[in-house]
Amino acid sequence: MAHVIALANQKGGVGKTTTAVNLGAGLASEGKRVLIVDSDAQGNATSGVGISKQNIQKDVYDVLVNEEPMQNVIMHSAHEGLDIVPATIQLSGAEIELTPQMARETRLQNAIKQINDQYDYVLIDCPPSLGLITINAFTASDSILIPVQSEYYALEGLSQLLNTVQLVQKHFNPNLYVEGVLLTMYDARTNLGAQVNEEVRKFFKEKVYKSIIPRNVRLSEAPSHGLPIIDYDPNSKGAKVYMKLTKEVLAANDK
Ligand code: ADP
Ligand code: MG
Repeated sequence: MAHVIALANQKGGVGKTTTAVNLGAGLASEGKRVLIVDSDAQGNATSGVGISKQNIQKDVYDVLVNEEPMQNVIMHSAHEGLDIVPATIQLSGAEIELTPQMARETRLQNAIKQINDQYDYVLIDCPPSLGLITINAFTASDSILIPVQSEYYALEGLSQLLNTVQLVQKHFNPNLYVEGVLLTMYDARTNLGAQVNEEVRKFFKEKVYKSIIPRNVRLSEAPSHGLPIIDYDPNSKGAKVYMKLTKEVLAANDK
């Protein structure tokens, strides 16, 4: 059975997609069978693992809205062991279309159950909102991993995020827990970085990963080549730290 992790933070640009792609590739490099479910209409995780739009026949929209079997939507990335359920701009209409439908919160959960035994890890890359798609992701997940950007107001909005976790626990998924909190885009040269680090650790305690993702230009270049960082520049700081994070996630899940 796969361990299902949602990458979530309703703020955009905090490193959700970067973490989905690079943790996914890291786990695959450690021999795990990994599926990324792109649940953001931007489709950045999809293009980030090298899948181009014109090759996508069906996407996560079809899974959520038309209950297309997950198996029919899965695509292989160029990185061995790393598969993806792609997203396209089609997904942007899904929340409205789902609203009047039956079992609208459990669509993704049901879909992931169909393929659960084919993977060791499923990583759901959430959109920057706490709407119905994120609710679907939380309902489908064992845990959530929260990337937090090292900037002013880093903690802002996190209580809303945790409220949504509680709502999903109450109504759909009582066992959902916080897998970990990841500091991203860290700049060691500033006091701000250290301050945010301290604040986040005070709040989330041992849930915060030892690995801290620095600002690294190679990490921001890799997506335009459709490659995870370990394939784009394995010697970069970004590649090394995402491998370190991979080891922490593996150790926590004893796999
Ligand atoms: P989200 O999915 O939360 O919106 P992304 O992972 O897409 O955030 O990151 C936002 C932007 O920042 C992207 O252009 C990405 O390439 C870049 N980025 C992410 N992490 C880093 C990092 N550690 N260093 C430099 N750029 C980064
Ligand atoms: Mg994203």
